[in-house]
Amino acid sequence: MATNNNNFTTHTKVKYKIPESTIPRMSIYSRIFSESKGNDYFSSKDIAAITGFSSAQIRRDLSYFGQFGVPGKGYPINELKQKISAILGIDKEWRVALIGMGNLGSALLTYKGFKEQKFKIIAAFDNNMKKIASNINDFKIQHINQLKSVVKQNEIKIAILTVPGKAAQEVINHVIDCGIKLILNFAPIKLKVPDYVHLQNIDVVVELERLTYYATKGMRTLVLKKTARLFK
Ligand code: NAD
Repeated sequence: MATNNNNFTTHTKVKYKIPESTIPRMSIYSRIFSESKGNDYFSSKDIAAITGFSSAQIRRDLSYFGQFGVPGKGYPINELKQKISAILGIDKEWRVALIGMGNLGSALLTYKGFKEQKFKIIAAFDNNMKKIASNINDFKIQHINQLKSVVKQNEIKIAILTVPGKAAQEVINHVIDCGIKLILNFAPIKLKVPDYVHLQNIDVVVELERLTYYATKGMRTLVLKKTARLFK
């Protein structure tokens, strides 16, 4: 997969040019199509009703890989499902290591949704001796020192980091050293990684601030309008 200057992603395997901003919506389409039982076709209106995206947005997204609806029927679900899975790389199973078995790590370990979307947690790691060899959801917690051999033996390609911020840089260095190039990080800290590593950060506080921004935006607009009126 390659990204050019216009933020379009060219998929060498599937030969489509898709804007990066479309990828999260593709993920949502994929989930809807997987959950649809007994439907052969979906219209853009059907998809809009479920997702809240506009029909025009959906038609634009699906046209990126040359997929147009059949008049009177809609979009063929199976064909679309296969194309989107290939684009997202979820037409195969991804093996995942979970690192940091505290509150969040333990919760993620019990989440069934990963497997349904082709992500299989293979092993869980920590450095706290009190947790090593204990079980969570049938997983034996292993020492972080064992990561390299477990990654190699099980062809693990993704790591999820749920360690405290102060430990995160050291842990991510070790994860990269063990050969993992795809990392999802929950620690609220900016981490340095080499160019060949793809790091995705999830910061819950940033997402909450996005919500509070929208809540105060209405108030700000009102204040600006009132101020503008004073200077008329
Ligand atoms: P926690 O303290 O409960 O768990 C952290 C775990 O990481 C512990 O088990 C600890 O032993 C382990 N750990 C520490 N250093 C390690 C190392 N070098 N190698 C391997 N394991 C190590 O913390 P938590 O509440 O689960 O949160 C984890 C991370 O996720 C934090 O960075 C936190 O800020 C972030 N986060 C948590 C939440 C939440 O709701 N709990 C939400 C958003 C983000």
